[in-house]
Amino acid sequence: MLLANKLIAIVGGGPGGLTLARLLQLKGANVRVYERDLDKDARVQGSTLDLHDESGLAAIRKANLLVAFKENFLPGADKKLIVNERAEVFFSDHETKVDENFGHEHFRPEIDRGSLRKILLESLQPETVVWDSHFISMEAQNGGWLLHFKKGPSAFADMVIAADGANSKIRPYITDIKAFYSGVTMLEGNVYHSKKATPHIDALNNGGKIMAFGNKKNVLLGQKGNGDLGFYTSFKADENWAANSGLNYADKTQLLTWFKKEYSEWSSIWYELFENATTPFIPRPIYCIPLNQTWKSLPNVTMLGDAAHVMPPFAGEGANMAMLDALELSESLTSDKYSTLQEAISFYETTMRRRAAIAAQESLENGERMHAEDALNTMLDMFGRH
Ligand SMILES: Cc1cc2nc3c(=O)[nH]c(=O)nc-3n(C[C@H](O)[C@H](O)[C@H](O)COP(=O)(O)OP(=O)(O)OC[C@H]3O[C@@H](n4cnc5c(N)ncnc54)[C@H](O)[C@@H]3O)c2cc1C
Repeated sequence: MLLANKLIAIVGGGPGGLTLARLLQLKGANVRVYERDLDKDARVQGSTLDLHDESGLAAIRKANLLVAFKENFLPGADKKLIVNERAEVFFSDHETKVDENFGHEHFRPEIDRGSLRKILLESLQPETVVWDSHFISMEAQNGGWLLHFKKGPSAFADMVIAADGANSKIRPYITDIKAFYSGVTMLEGNVYHSKKATPHIDALNNGGKIMAFGNKKNVLLGQKGNGDLGFYTSFKADENWAANSGLNYADKTQLLTWFKKEYSEWSSIWYELFENATTPFIPRPIYCIPLNQTWKSLPNVTMLGDAAHVMPPFAGEGANMAMLDALELSESLTSDKYSTLQEAISFYETTMRRRAAIAAQESLENGERMHAEDALNTMLDMFGRH
């Protein structure tokens, strides 16, 4: 095997990096994951993820983790309402969708990011993840790389895989192509114990998720496993809106005033979210890789997931693509079809770029539809068709 006697450094312990570590360990490879979080108990932020049968779930199956996944997913959290700015319901699949339908191509079970990370971490050999390892830079050494971190000793690896997300510090060693701003910014908020804190929204949501469209703006929200609720306002804005808005993201009164002004046509039911959110809110300008990005493969460094192809979240593909990258990269690196690592990397990267460009284009198009004047009707058409 090409990886025999080689030490592999995966930088970043998100869904992509940890899936790759698991799949490579199943093939007998020697893997370390360098993760900047202090330890395994660091709170993983963000919405739940829905895994798709042909990508995220395919990787879970290959990693022999379907049983653990089934024990940890959130039955019913994939049920959906589409509403307008007054929270009037135009589409609901709460009565028709079954809680569990593994193996069906359209079943997309939701799981908390934290639960997914826990399943993957528990599947790894002890000491695989080196916590509190914030990668800063690396230099070529003895045919491999010497990695430097903010704290702690440097580490040698024969091969480095960037799984350090959208602001990857390793991507520039491979290409200087940068992601572009998609025109959309999302403002993320969280409500602890939504049943108590936001009873009206909680009752409407009923354990699932809500997509609200009105006046070229969105509110997107979903139930988390611990009874919390994550929500995003999503709107078109300048790239530097987050810095220039003048808002203090730790001040929910200010943010409620902002919402009332910017979402002036939206009814007061949504105010509950701002009144009871934990702070700070997180502004997220949404970026996308150029769809035609390409580069020459290197012999001992590659990338996956958001590091390779950050894309807007409007097709729910980001984490799924990251996990499918992990599956395909693990297969290339451990295949006996290739005579060098560079060949194996090149095959993986060519397929990955093509696949990611299709997903990114779909995400961009969905983003445009969701922030258009007739978003509600377009989205009803889309979900009606499915
Ligand atoms: C608002 C929003 C909603 C989304 N919703 C969905 C969805 O519903 N479905 C979906 O599939 N995708 C969704 N995504 C996209 C998804 O979150 C990402 O595509 C996915 O998390 C990418 O996985 P990854 O493993 O490549 O990177 P990440 O999840 O970003 O993980 C990167 C890891 O690397 C670590 N790291 C970063 N820098 C360093 C460093 N210098 N040194 C060491 N470690 C480092 C981080 O701490 C982190 O653990 C959404 C994204 C956003 C912004």
